[in-house]
Amino acid sequence: MLTRLAISTHEEVYRVEDRESGLRGFIALHSTRLGPAAGGLRMRTYEGDDAALEDVLNLSRGMSYKNAAAGLPLGGGKAVILGDPDHAKTPALLRAMGRAINRLQGRYWTAEDMGMSPEDMAELSRETRFVAGLNSGTHASGDPSPVTARGVLGAMRAGAAQLWGTQNLSGRHVAVQGLGHVGWHLCHLLHESGAKLSVADMNPAHVASTVREYGATMVDPRSIHAVDADIFAPCAIGGVLNPRSIPEIRARMVCGAANNQLASPEDAERLRARDILYLPDYVANGGGIVNVAAEILRIAPRAPWVDERLDAMQARMAHILARASGEGVSPAMIADRLVEEQLLQVAV
Ligand code: NAD
Repeated sequence: MLTRLAISTHEEVYRVEDRESGLRGFIALHSTRLGPAAGGLRMRTYEGDDAALEDVLNLSRGMSYKNAAAGLPLGGGKAVILGDPDHAKTPALLRAMGRAINRLQGRYWTAEDMGMSPEDMAELSRETRFVAGLNSGTHASGDPSPVTARGVLGAMRAGAAQLWGTQNLSGRHVAVQGLGHVGWHLCHLLHESGAKLSVADMNPAHVASTVREYGATMVDPRSIHAVDADIFAPCAIGGVLNPRSIPEIRARMVCGAANNQLASPEDAERLRARDILYLPDYVANGGGIVNVAAEILRIAPRAPWVDERLDAMQARMAHILARASGEGVSPAMIADRLVEEQLLQVAV
């Protein structure tokens, strides 16, 4: 059952329920001004419906900004399912979600997010064609993480040019927090670029392989943000830039893949006051959605198109940093302003 909720900040919001499979979730379309709303499907345990609704509203709004910043003809949307993906995820539940997505007739496109895998996307695709992040098929885009890492590297180069007058990262010391899908690829690219690495992860196996493969130095996860490095790269969880961590950061630049790195908008100003260059996360980590967009938009051949978009993202980051420096405000503020201007320019 798909029930429409009236929420003034978003174009369309739905509660999704299916008694038979136990599905409970939400789909939110924040904006379709630039194109169909696109953003992943997340499954996790929530404290209740209100918490899940708040998450889907925030995440879908974030996708409008990320898609616009990546220069994509896509709006912002997101879907969430309440429940533990390790125990409550069944083919019947996924197919019920697939049917709900299909009823939106392409105004919302889904893909993988937390708690979902390419196999789950394949299950959804049995009910709807409005799903990306598949592993097989003509336009399948597979794991977005390598492209996300390339985008983050490009952003770091833009930041290096702004701070040190050169894009060259050789000899720069980067502290990477989180060595999962993106963090690992980022370490690989940084190592190839001649950077020196300090790394931390909660999973000792991830740390051990990065130390072995890339000569990285292992750091306690509790103090990776405080390493005396040139760049701090959050690639694990959100909220790591907060009133407690910011005074301890010694790097001149923060640039990583993690979503929602700032605990609150005021933390962007706290970083600026400490002369730390914070590269807005949703601009730096847009490579993943570029990869998915190639699948949604049926782009062929995909590689040159993706390369072009990544170059454009790096140029956009350079522009944001230059404007922020010129106006004496945080890059986060400029990034938001550019997207809001972009959305206003599009006729509804
Ligand atoms: P992942 O789950 O593969 O990796 C996260 C890693 O962080 C894991 O190895 C985990 O052990 C580690 N970790 C968790 N908490 C930690 C902590 N407190 N300190 C140190 N390490 C910790 O996730 P991922 O796909 O690599 O994504 C990383 C971040 O980037 C997430 O915030 C994600 O939302 C964001 N992101 C990912 C993509 C993508 O393409 N995968 C795209 C955009 C944004």
